[in-house]
Formats: sequence, structure tokens, C-alpha cells
Amino acid sequence: MAEQQPLNPLIILYNTDATQDDAIFETAFHKQNYSEEYTLTEFREKFKVTFRVGPRMPDCHRVIEVHPELRDKLLKAPRLFVGYRSTRARDYLRVLKCYKCHDYGHVQKYCTSVEQLRGTCGEKQHEEGTTCPLKNEDLCVSCLKRGNRIKHRNQDCPGHKLALSKLKGKFNYRT
Ligand SMILES: [Zn+2]
Ligand SMILES: [Zn+2]
Ligand SMILES: [Zn+2]
Repeated sequence: MAEQQPLNPLIILYNTDATQDDAIFETAFHKQNYSEEYTLTEFREKFKVTFRVGPRMPDCHRVIEVHPELRDKLLKAPRLFVGYRSTRARDYLRVLKCYKCHDYGHVQKYCTSVEQLRGTCGEKQHEEGTTCPLKNEDLCVSCLKRGNRIKHRNQDCPGHKLALSKLKGKFNYRT
């Protein structure tokens, strides 16, 4: 199978004006931050609003597909201007979590588990009338399935770390 072409990186800009049309946002962002370095046409080839996340009104976070060269500049910029406000750019790397098997790196649609597993213990459904013994333990199900009873934040989970490094591998960060 052919190697998949690396994708352009995604960055997130927090708290941007949700009422603004994306094309207008791109033009305004260029004008306020990069009009001396790039023409508008050049800029729009390197900066494409892809989707929005977070709150909807009056602010939203915009996720932007950027050229690796522009990503470097955006991440290094101490301040970026959007309208009357300033913001900072961050890499957007969202590790997927499956709600069927509770593991990282894929979603339900691509899950290899046949059955819906419980979010508290990673087991199949318990018999009716019985309660899960791990109900209030708040254990990491991804680790539990690998035999480790542990409680931690997503970022500290080895399963999450592995999925994150795989995700990073999909993007082209070279300039
Ligand atoms: Zn799954
Ligand atoms: Zn259980
Ligand atoms: Zn874990």
C-alpha cells in the first residue's frame, strides 16, 4: 500500500468572532497580521479555515489548515490580531476516543470490538440487576484492558500518547 501523503498541519485560533464569515475572517486575518509578507492570494493558499469548534456564539474557535512554513510563523508569533482582540495559535491535535470500546485513536465507526463495552470497566454489559464493581473507581479503561488498574488524565495514558504520536505522524511539519 502506498504511503499516505502527509497532511498540512492544523492549528487552532481561540475566541474568534463567530458571526464573521470564514472567507471574510481569512481576509481580515491576512490584513492584520501577514499583509507585509504575503499577498492575499499567497496567504489564502496557506491558510484555510477548515472547521469550528467550541462555543458557537458570539465566539468560536477556528481550526485552520496551514502550510508548514506558516505554521512555524503562527506558533512563534507573540500575538496575532483578530478584530480588536489578540489571540495565539496552537497546534490542533485531537486524539480520537472510541465510545464503543473506550480506547484511543479511532472512533466507533472503525472499532474492531463487536460489542459495546462499559465505560467503567471495559467489560461487556453486566447481568441485569448487578452493578459494576468498578462503577465508582474512575479507572482508565484503555489501561484496564491492558491489565493495569490506574486512574489518570488522558494526557498521561500510554494509549493516548501512542495515538497522539501516530496522529502527529500524519502531518507534514517540515518547512
Ligand atoms: Zn473502539
Ligand atoms: Zn463493570
Ligand atoms: Zn490509561
